[in-house]
Amino acid sequence: MSKKNNRDEKNFNQAALDYHSIEPKGKIEVIPSKPHSSQRDLSLAYSPGVAIPCLAIEKDPKLAYEYTGKGNLVAVITNGTAVLGLGDIGAEASKPVMEGKGLLFKIFADINVFDIEIDEKDPDKFIEIVKGIAPTFGGINLEDIKAPEAFYIEQRLKEELKIPLMHDDQHGTAIISAAALINALEIAGKKIGDVKMVVNGAGAAAIACTKLYLQLGLKIENVLMCDSKGVISHHRENLTPEKLDFVANTELKTLADALQGADVFVGLSKGNVMTPEMLLSMAENPVVFGLANPDPEIEYEVAMETRPDTIMATGRSDYPNQVNNVLGFPYIFRGALDVQATGINEAMKLAAVRAIADIAKEPVPESVILAYNLKTLNFGREYFIPKPFDNRLLTRVSVAVAKAAMDSGIANKPIENFEDYENALLD
Ligand code: NAP
Ligand code: MG
Repeated sequence: MSKKNNRDEKNFNQAALDYHSIEPKGKIEVIPSKPHSSQRDLSLAYSPGVAIPCLAIEKDPKLAYEYTGKGNLVAVITNGTAVLGLGDIGAEASKPVMEGKGLLFKIFADINVFDIEIDEKDPDKFIEIVKGIAPTFGGINLEDIKAPEAFYIEQRLKEELKIPLMHDDQHGTAIISAAALINALEIAGKKIGDVKMVVNGAGAAAIACTKLYLQLGLKIENVLMCDSKGVISHHRENLTPEKLDFVANTELKTLADALQGADVFVGLSKGNVMTPEMLLSMAENPVVFGLANPDPEIEYEVAMETRPDTIMATGRSDYPNQVNNVLGFPYIFRGALDVQATGINEAMKLAAVRAIADIAKEPVPESVILAYNLKTLNFGREYFIPKPFDNRLLTRVSVAVAKAAMDSGIANKPIENFEDYENALLD
């Protein structure tokens, strides 16, 4: 690393510590939402007035949505076992990430968050703890829990709790990358039902992404999935149940073998595992999602120098087409909370995918162009995923998700007038 880069990184690291330690320390705080300046206010807020809503909720638990903040409160819950790309750093060390997620929920969708870091690695015990605290919340965002435990934890909690719940590392990534895939394939002039895809990685994100792409029309016989040991084929032994769903009937062994003639590469594995030679062996207009963080499976510059026809997305904000979960989770929960959905189902996820994909194809508002200091922004190879500061996401994705919840019969409180609803979102 050059001296200048070294200095820049040191400055940035110090800035990150300073940012977090400025008073009040951390990134989120609790603010009372009701008047609290007179004796009467306090007698309503607490004893004796508070007993009245308590008794009402005891009689009819749905009234918790009327008399408490539950309906706009999401728990961001982790056990700290798969934090960002940092690995198992433990519950306490994960707190800055969970607070950060709270900040994003609040600024993009005005949803309140309690970040909950649970020091428990046993999946069954973890599930019991989450179930125990669930009455507090209108929704639960599971975060940074390692696979394969994450699959089991999410599955059981979805079955046993009747509130919107999603493991964002799986489904948030799946939703945003699926929107990106729809648009990238349109640019490539290819149909999802025809393309050959190689998925590198078979962890939480890769499995969820591939399952969602299958729902969009990808053919399972056109998918080759690789993990750290190579292609997942019938020659492999001791595969986890999730990997067994993707066993291919093939003699191909390595990523390089798998990529010959492939149309799409989706990397959710490790940085720099794709070589220029591998990229050169792909079909024309190769779609390459190098989503490993912080370093993609192949560097953006390397990919572009190797093949200018590459249609690329990464997980990074410093290159075009960032697959950033913040395009999804605030609005998915917004829509789900607002209709008091009993979960987040496939219809809601697919509605979010389509809404996000559509936004990128429409003319970009001046405010977005200005926010990113650009001259223009038009749908194409360098822009096929909306930008995080695009406020069309709030109305479009939330509305799409709320409607999908209603249409699929899991909305406890259907929205009656969508025009009023959209206006309220923008207030
Ligand atoms: P994970 O559950 O730990 O899974 C990692 C997977 O990568 C495992 O299946 C592992 O194989 C595989 N792997 C490791 N080295 C490999 C190699 N050299 N070749 C092929 N596969 C390899 O992690 P995750 O949560 O799915 O995340 C995976 C990556 O995607 C991380 O870099 C993460 O930062 C990134 N990600 C990005 C976004 C985004 O851009 N929005 C979102 C989510 C995740 P084994 O199964 O054999 O161990
Ligand atoms: Mg995460």
